[in-house]
Order: sequence, then C-alpha cells, then structure tokens
Amino acid sequence: ADPSPEALQEFLTGLAAEIHARADWGKVADYIPELADVELAQFGIAVQLADGSLCHAGASEVGFSIQSISKVFSLACVLGRIGEQIWQRVGREPSGSRFDSILLLELEKGIPRNPFINAGALVVTDELLTGRTPRDALAEIIHFIRAAAGDDAIHIDRAVAMSEQATGDRNRALGNYLKSYGNLKNPVDYTLGTYFHQCAIEMDCLQLARAGRVIAGLPGAPSILAPARARRITALMLTCGHYDESGDFAFRVGLPGKSGVGGGILMVAPGRASIAIWSPGLNATGNSRAGAYAAEKLAEFTGWSVFG
Ligand code: GLN
Repeated sequence: ADPSPEALQEFLTGLAAEIHARADWGKVADYIPELADVELAQFGIAVQLADGSLCHAGASEVGFSIQSISKVFSLACVLGRIGEQIWQRVGREPSGSRFDSILLLELEKGIPRNPFINAGALVVTDELLTGRTPRDALAEIIHFIRAAAGDDAIHIDRAVAMSEQATGDRNRALGNYLKSYGNLKNPVDYTLGTYFHQCAIEMDCLQLARAGRVIAGLPGAPSILAPARARRITALMLTCGHYDESGDFAFRVGLPGKSGVGGGILMVAPGRASIAIWSPGLNATGNSRAGAYAAEKLAEFTGWSVFG
C-alpha cells in the first residue's frame, strides 16, 4: 500500500535534512553563467499522490531551469499532433552515449536514437514547428505544461535562453547534421531557437510534480494526454531518460525518470505518484547527484517500482 501523506511528509523532511548533512552535491553545470551561478547546496522534492495530496520538503518552491525535462512535454505535444508518425524520424532505443553526442547520427543516417537525447529532441521540436512559427510552437509546449500543472505563472527565463543561443555550437552542429540528412525540415535557427527556449522554462518542484500528473496518469489530472501515449512516454523515460546512465537509474530506482542539466528530475510511479526532485549539482553524466540519491531513497521507502 502507498504511504499515508503524513508518513510520506515525515520521510521527505528527514530526507532533505540527510541530503544536507551528506553534502555530496556534485558540480553545477557551467556551460552558461546562468546555470553556473546557481547556489550548489540546494535540494528540493515534491510528491503528488493519487489522492490529490502534495507533500514536499526543502527548496521545493525555488524555481530552476527544467532543461531536458522539457523533452518529455515536447514529445507529449508531438504525439498529440501527429501520433505514431514521429517514429519515422526518431528511434526508441537508448543511446548509451552522452546527451549531446553526434556519434551515432552518422551510422544511423540522421535518425536520432531516441527523443530524449539532444538530436532526438531537436527532431521533435522541428516537427512541432511544421506549419507554425517558433513563437506558436513554443506557445504550444508552454500551454501544455501550464495546463498539466494547472498554473499559468509558468514561464521562460529569457536570459537562460539567450545564453544557450550564444553558446549552443554543439546543438547547432547537431541541427545542421540532421538537416544534411533531410531530417530537419525548418531552418536550423528556428528549430534551435525554439529548443533553447523550451529548455529555459523555469519551474519549481511543486509545479513540476503537478505537471507530471498527466505523465503519471493520476486521477484528477487534466485529460490532455491519452493514457496509451503516457505509457509510451514513461517507457522512454525508463530506457532513455538519464542518457548513458539510464540503465543504472532503472536498476537503482526502478521508476521512469527524466533528468535535466539544471539538476531537475521528473519521475513517475504510474497511477500512484508524480515526483519532482531538484538539486543543481551534477555527476559526470550530467544528472543530478543528490537528486538520484533522493530518488533511490524515495523508491526504497515507498516500495514504488515498475518492476512489481
Ligand atoms: N540545454 C541543454 C542542451 O541542449 C539541455 C541538455 C540537458 O539538460 N541535458 O545542451
């Protein structure tokens, strides 16, 4: 049985204290000043339960850059728009490579391994741009997230987006490379600009846990994502959500999760809970260090696992 909200709350409060005491934070992302300047020693967690209660602890109301977690929502939008056709342009296999790797793109002729590595996310965003301006495509992603969270205050941090734009040479290379294989339909700058802005969406753990209700298929979640689609997204989160650490996350935690280089993790226990965790210090793979530790402890405490 699921823990009571009271028991869960007590656990989360203790977990936040334990994480501060351990002080094993990793290193903040430093490729743009906006992320490099975030204070390292922070941890927040929020758990939205199926009964509607929302338990949280630590810096759960501090906004952070969701970065690659946005790939979950852009995929949800594209599935809603063109459905299974998207799989003609992007695969569904873990890459075993870094999130920004270009390696397999040559071997696989411009079809990215999955929608959660950068190349795959660029293809998804490019598809959302078809027949639309970057502004409208971006609006679709933001509206989806706001509707999922039930919170119209969610917005883009323009400074982060501008910084990404100024430093995004590798993503630009990925975009051009995809284009050379005919797997980018729009001007590279349009697709990149939209992608950088979706990565720059700012949310706190409370907002992210609420937005995750649609992915977790919780009762009472707004009906903006078909259950069958949510299942496909969670399958990809489990197999590809943590880049070349996805296998280890599945092994240690046993729940689908998606990380971002801002230090966030969106994780779901399908039908039971939506979980948002944030700690900006990363490990060598670019995933939140304290965040992964917390995910493991939470799964242990609750017994939640997709493996029964
Ligand atoms: N904006 C980052 C990038 O494209 C997002 C990557 C991530 O969160 N891992 O490089």
